[in-house]
Amino acid sequence: MNSNHLSERILNMATSATLAMAAKARELREEGKDIIGLSLGEPDFNTPDFIKEAAINAINENYNGYTPVDGYVDLKKAVITKFKRDNNLEYTLPQVVVSTGAKQSLANVALVMLNQGDEVILPCPYWVSYSDIVKLAEGVPVEVKTSIKTDFKMTPAQLEAAITPKTKMVWFSSPCNPSGSSYTKEELEALAVVLRQHPNIFVVSDEIYEHINYTGVAHASMAGIDGMFNNTITVNGVSKAFAMTGWRIGYIGAPDWIARACNKMQGQITSGTNCIAQRAVITALNASPSKVKYMIDEFKIRRDLILDLLNNIEGFKTNIPQGAFYVFPDVSAFFGKTFKGKTIKNATDFSMYLLEEALVATVSGDAFGNPDCLRISYAASQDQIIEAIKRIKTALS
Ligand code: PMP
Ligand code: GLU
Repeated sequence: MNSNHLSERILNMATSATLAMAAKARELREEGKDIIGLSLGEPDFNTPDFIKEAAINAINENYNGYTPVDGYVDLKKAVITKFKRDNNLEYTLPQVVVSTGAKQSLANVALVMLNQGDEVILPCPYWVSYSDIVKLAEGVPVEVKTSIKTDFKMTPAQLEAAITPKTKMVWFSSPCNPSGSSYTKEELEALAVVLRQHPNIFVVSDEIYEHINYTGVAHASMAGIDGMFNNTITVNGVSKAFAMTGWRIGYIGAPDWIARACNKMQGQITSGTNCIAQRAVITALNASPSKVKYMIDEFKIRRDLILDLLNNIEGFKTNIPQGAFYVFPDVSAFFGKTFKGKTIKNATDFSMYLLEEALVATVSGDAFGNPDCLRISYAASQDQIIEAIKRIKTALS
């Protein structure tokens, strides 16, 4: 009854499926159920000690006041150093904005760039929140379907075909959450051939998983492709590579007029993000990425482990994720089948069945714009992965 008073904006918004599943898993655990959580994209490592020490020092040094809205200058300088060192991108201070997580960075960009009816091309599968953030800003998500056959990547021809006079932006993540696919430099160049013909289209290149890269080849950034720098907003953050999800720091490098607008937006909504977290992230970004390589090496072992185990269950079709910490198997072979009296009609039924029968939390591919698939996060210990897939196999036998 009371919800009648809520805005259409919130009533039309979907609940974040990743967070909803994590909450459900938490609830079931509180009821005493032994749930293995493979739903949330969150490293199971502790934040490295050298970063924690920087935060403790910041508290003791009495960092407690409001910060500049777009972040401390020395943090923005560390972001600039990082962009140059890791991506060969030359951003300047007015082109960098630090926010409360990459999620806020994305929301800022949507709110400052989109007018009602502006179309945003989202290659599917896309990260769960893109579509609702775009809709919040009154934009229209335009899904470009990909499948396991093309390693879940959008081709230049598909991009070209999706462009209309209303297209304002293209958003994608590479390495991709949820497919783990990474666009090579050559693939980005091929997409840029199309994009350069449309100088009014802007790209959000979400590179939050850049360090979680198993290709052995350097990560490629869209802003580094010829002619793309002034049309690209590079989004990044420390949640994933530095195991700092709860610290809530993300940032963008963007043309200065976009960065200024994001700064203005943030100034009215949240102000600068947490001061202690910002001080810690200066230390994180100034450190060599080799300091977090032990986590990436472990994720790679887990990727190989989970692929091996899943490929032993008939019906799971997998690509080989090149980055991030998710597998995104096509599970459509199970649709229409009945297990323990429960008929699986779609990926949501499948995910619910696994939760109830195998006590394993996953996320349905629907939330990512690909209803044939299931997202499984392998940011969990090897023992948990082995036990989870064993339970899944039993529930499906
Ligand atoms: N982009 C992608 C692709 C993600 O997977 C996430 C996951 N949290 C985010 C952005 C947001 O990250 P955060 O807000 O924690 O920085
Ligand atoms: N990005 C993570 C995920 O996809 C964290 C959850 C969220 O922010 O939605 O699971």
